[in-house]
Parts: sequence; structure tokens; C-alpha cells
Amino acid sequence: RGRVSTAGATGPAGARRRFPTPPRPGWGRLLIAAVAGASLGAAGLALARGRGLTVTILVLGIAASVAVGGAAWAEERYRRHRLQLLYQSHVLLQGSSGSPPSIETLLLRLCEVLRASFAEVVILPDAIDRSALVVQVRDGRAVDTARALDQAILDDVFSVVVPRSLSLLLRRRNLGDAVMAALVVEGRVVGTVLTGDRRGRRGFGEDDRQLLEALAPQVAITVDRARLDARLSQQAFHDALTGLANRSLFSDRVAHALERRVAPGRLRAAVLFIDLDDFKMVNDGLGHAAGDLLLQGVTQRLRRVVRPFDTVARLGGDEFAVLLEDLAGPEEALGVAQRFLDELAAPFELRGTTVVTGASVGVGVADTGATSPDDLLRQADWAMYRAKERGKATVETFHPGMESALEQRVQLTAELSEALSGDELTVEYQPIVSLSRGRVVGVEALARWTSPRRGRVAPREFIPIAEASGLICEIGERVLRTACRQAACWMAEHPEQELTVSVNLSPRQLLDPAFAATVAAVLLETAIPPARLTLEITESLLVERTPETLRRLKALKDLGVTLAIDDFGTGSASLDELRRLPVDTLKIPKAFVDNVATSARDRAFLAGIIGLGRTLDLRLVVVGVEHAEQSDQLEQLRCDLVQGFHFAAPIDAAGISALLARQARGQAAPGPGDGAAAVAAAAPGRA
Ligand code: C2E
Ligand code: CA
Repeated sequence: RGRVSTAGATGPAGARRRFPTPPRPGWGRLLIAAVAGASLGAAGLALARGRGLTVTILVLGIAASVAVGGAAWAEERYRRHRLQLLYQSHVLLQGSSGSPPSIETLLLRLCEVLRASFAEVVILPDAIDRSALVVQVRDGRAVDTARALDQAILDDVFSVVVPRSLSLLLRRRNLGDAVMAALVVEGRVVGTVLTGDRRGRRGFGEDDRQLLEALAPQVAITVDRARLDARLSQQAFHDALTGLANRSLFSDRVAHALERRVAPGRLRAAVLFIDLDDFKMVNDGLGHAAGDLLLQGVTQRLRRVVRPFDTVARLGGDEFAVLLEDLAGPEEALGVAQRFLDELAAPFELRGTTVVTGASVGVGVADTGATSPDDLLRQADWAMYRAKERGKATVETFHPGMESALEQRVQLTAELSEALSGDELTVEYQPIVSLSRGRVVGVEALARWTSPRRGRVAPREFIPIAEASGLICEIGERVLRTACRQAACWMAEHPEQELTVSVNLSPRQLLDPAFAATVAAVLLETAIPPARLTLEITESLLVERTPETLRRLKALKDLGVTLAIDDFGTGSASLDELRRLPVDTLKIPKAFVDNVATSARDRAFLAGIIGLGRTLDLRLVVVGVEHAEQSDQLEQLRCDLVQGFHFAAPIDAAGISALLARQARGQAAPGPGDGAAAVAAAAPGRA
């Protein structure tokens, strides 16, 4: 704190004085002196009678009178000015406007009254383990910070309280002369108020000390009220679990930040909107107590990456927000977001279980035309939504246009939700062909949406929306049930064909603890042999490997169903993980076969993947075969199961029935001709 010396009190106790103030005689005494001076002059005039001497004495007398009287007048004016300020301050401090002034306003006023450029209020904490609140004003700018209750603060309190004077003049290294008073409410010292740094003017005097002491009770009342408000607002404006600001306090802070002016070229504010990626999984899988611990852990890490005066809020559930003020630019906000994601990378230990969680962060910046706090928060929310779609653990900044794209998505979500209650959703089936047997051995069920307003909507458009909104669970269950019922009919008609049916599974469905039970019910209901049902799970889902995911996959496997990894090779499952996963089939995506006919390198790559599947003793299905050359290459690589437009595009159930009937009559499997026809039939709206 740079204290050099603490002056002794100068109050009624009459202790020694370090900063003598210039003598300022009272109004009466000055008047007497002036009258005396004038009388002296007149007396001299009467007595001396000598002309030269008379004039000299007269001039001297008048000069003395004017000098003494002028000083008195200036002094009186200064005093009146102070009295006026003191009165105004009382009015201000009493809050004539109805609402009490803030401590900052009060300190600014104090600087003005005492002609200082620095003022500070230290509010003592209620309990020894809490922090003191320090509000400072320097050159018209206010800062408030929390500070541990340290020796320097206690020294200050004792220095004013122990001599019982309640105020004193002192000197500080960074401040020069200063004056300090104790803040007392109902006999309790609640803090101190100090003002200093007169910048070249003379130091504080006895009357300054008295003035501060006179103002101190008003300051104390304001401080006490602020303390009470703080306690109340701690309850009303904070989230009980994490102690963070709640939505209402956050909006308020954003509103203030938007009103504040900053230096040219700097950003007023940025808002980060944060949503944890797998919170539901932890909460459902490990219980609410673990979920609470995770939220508290995330709070701690979030606090580590922000500055002490940035506002961190929990908006509800697993949503957090951060307000960053006065930034050099948007990069600074992105930097904070990235540091937070880095902090999250380390696993959490929750009651003996290791949990890894990511977050999607959206950034809204206060120069993209946002006017209200709600707009800014909404923009950050939109950006977060976009980040979530792009993949987890990512940061996305809001930009104009994102809005309309997202609004369209919101609209599409609403329509999709309606579609579910009508009959707009159907299922198509794409044949899976065995090259060696030259016949269809299975079908993959694919969801189709024909909207009365939009026509056929491609899965690549509506599946992500369904994923983001959670509608995918309902869609998935419907596809599963429809496909199994349909498959049961085909199996009954053509038992000799041993057809399999594959259904795509969303990561979200696997999060549902009841999912295995749903599958069991569907199997029971349709009576299809479990092994004939394949559930396809994308590799990226498996990358979010938690003991819970593994348990759920095992539960499905225990039902007897076949599990396939979809889009194999696009995630990052390690060989070891693959070995441990209860899967039977790998589906190799289109990208791996696209160039096998033309590129030796791609051919080698595909051969490698096929080899890998064989090593792990897994069945392989190659998807997206469009040409005869690709099919030939696959035959050469002894890859048997294929799916693609070259053989058949997804077609409706009737189309598959016809195909199976032809196969039953001993006719050939779908060949290039059928494929072309099917492609043509299914062309509108294809992904
Ligand atoms: P997927 O699981 O990889 O399904 C195969 C996709 O590739 C299908 O697209 C299919 O029409 C397309 N395809 C097959 N052969 C060829 C080909 O030779 N050339 C080309 N260009 N494409 C081919 P679709 O039906 O548009 O589905 C796209 C994705 O949507 C699916 O990819 C799947 O991830 C998702 N999806 C579709 N239905 C469902 C569903 O019921 N549930 C879930 N969770 N996802 C679904
Ligand atoms: Ca699939």
C-alpha cells in the first residue's frame, strides 16, 4: 500500500499535528484587525500632523486593512463554498432523488469537495474469511475490486479507531497527502473512506479532516445500504449452485457495458455464450450430484480464464455466459473462449469417475449492430448454436446473416416437429448387395421427409436439425419400428433370402437410458430374429467414449442385434478401441471408394482399410459405389458387401418387395440397369 507514515490524530484529543494548516483567523478577528488598522491610521493622522508622515501612515493603515480584510474575504468565500458543497453533498448522500447514490457517485463527489483526484472506500467483510470490497475513484474513473482482508486494511481501521478520533491526516507513497475517516454504523466500524492526491495543491488541513469526518456518517449509511443490497442481491441475482451471476444480473451488466464509452478503436463489450457438450450424459448417467459437481468444476475453470472484473453467469442448466468489457478487439474474446476450451480439455474427477466434457462457445461482439443486451446475448446464442452444429468443442463468432440462416432453421425445426404428427415422414430402403452371390442380402432404412410446403427435403438438411433439436429420437424410433415391421413382412414372404435390415442410430438415442428397452420391445413386437437387425452408429459417436456409452452398446449387443460402425475411418477410434467395442460390421464411406478406379494411392488406402477390417474379423460394407469400375476394384480386393447407386438407390418398400420377388424367381440381382432406373426414380430431393 506504500504507507510511509500515519499522522497522529488531530482531533479533539489534541494529538500531535504533522500537517500544520496555515492560520486562518476567524471572521470576527479579521474584522477587528481591519478596524484596528484603520483606527491606527486615523490616530496617526490626528497625532502626527506632519503631512508626509500623515500620508505614509494613512496609506499603510489602508493597505493593512485591505490586506487583512481581503484575506478574510477570500477565506470566507472558500468556507462558504465548502459549506455549500458540504450541504449539497448531504443532499446528494441522502438521496434526494429517491434512490441512494452509488458509492462511486459518492466518491466522485468527495473528490470534488476535497479537491482531490483519488478517493477510496474500503468495506470490511462480514466474516473474516471473505474479501473486503474496495471501491476506488481516480481521475473520475471508478473501479471496484474484492481484496483479501489483509494487514494494510486492518492497519487503516485501527489507525482511525484506536485514537478514537475517527479521522486523521496521513501520507501515502503513491498519493502524497491524504485524509481518512472511519465509517461507523450503529457503533460498528464498517469500513474506511480515504481521499488524497491533490496534484500540486497544498496538503490537507485540519478543516479538510473535519469536513471528511462530517461527511463520513453519510458515506457510512450508503456503504451499509450497499452492503445490505449486496447481500440481498447475492441471493436474488446469483445462482445458488455456482455463485455466479444469474440471467437477470447478467443482462443488467451487459446493459451497463453497452452504455459505457470506451477509447476509439476499442470494443465496448463481447458476450460468450457457452453450452456444455455432454452434460446430459453425465447428469443422466452418473446422477444429479455428479452433474452439480461438474457444473461447479466448470465454473472454477471458467473463472480462471477471465479477468476479475468480467461477469460470469450461469443462465440455467448447462448454459453459461461471460461478459468481457473494454476489449482491444474481437480476437481478445476469441482468445478467452479458446483458453476456456483448453482448460476444459483436462478431465474432471467426479466421485471417482473420470469425465471429459467439451463446450460449444458462441461469441457476440458489440459492434455488429447489436443494440440491446438481449440482441447481443441472442447473437452469442446463435453463434453457439452454429458452433454446436459444426462439431463439438468449437468457437464460432456471430456475423450478420447467421441470423436469417438460423431463423430458417428454427422454422424448419417447427415444421419438422409438425411433420412428425402427420404422415410426412416415410422410410426408403437401399439394397445392400453381395458381389459374390450376385443378390440383395440386406437393406438400409433411410428417413425421408416430404413437406407439403417444401416438397422433398434432403436428409442432409433435416437430419442435422433433428439432431440439434432432439427430434431425432422420435424420428429414429419411428424409422426403427417401420423398418422392422416391413422387414418382418419381407422375411415372412421370402424366408430363404435371409434378409437383414439396417437402421441408423443417432448419438442422442444412445443417451436415452431406455433405448435398449425400446429396441427389445420392437424386436418382440415384430418377431424378427435380433441378429437380422443391424444398428449403425457413426464412428464420431464412439469417439466420445465414456464407460456409459460402452455399457449401453453392450446392452444392445446383449439383445442379439448386430452393431455396425458407420462412416468408418472418419472418426479417430484406435485399433485397440475397435477391438474392445462390441461391433460386428464396418461401413466404409463413399469418400474411400470415389477414386479407387483412377488413383493407385486411393486403391492402396482402401485395401489397407479392408485389411484392417479382416484383421479385426469384422464384416465390411462399402457405401457409395456408383460405377462398374469401382465395383470391379472391390471384387478384386475381395470386398463382398456393397451399397450404391450402381446397384440401386434407396427406394420405397414396394420397390424392395418387387426386387425380392424377382430374386425369389431366380432372376439376377440388381445390376447397372436397375441402379440407373432406381436413381432416376429416387432422384428428386436426394442428398
Ligand atoms: P448414411 O448412413 O451414410 O446413408 C447413406 C447415404 O448415402 C444415403 O443418403 C444414401 O442415399 C447415400 N448413398 C448411397 N449410395 C450412394 C451413391 O452411390 N452415391 C451417392 N452420392 N450417395 C449414395 P441419405 O439417404 O441422403 O442419408 C444421408 C444420411 O442421413 C445418412 O447417411 C444417415 O447418416 C442420415 N440418415 C438417414 N436416415 C436416417 C435415420 O433414420 N436416422 C438417422 N439417425 N440418420 C439417418
Ligand atoms: Ca448408415
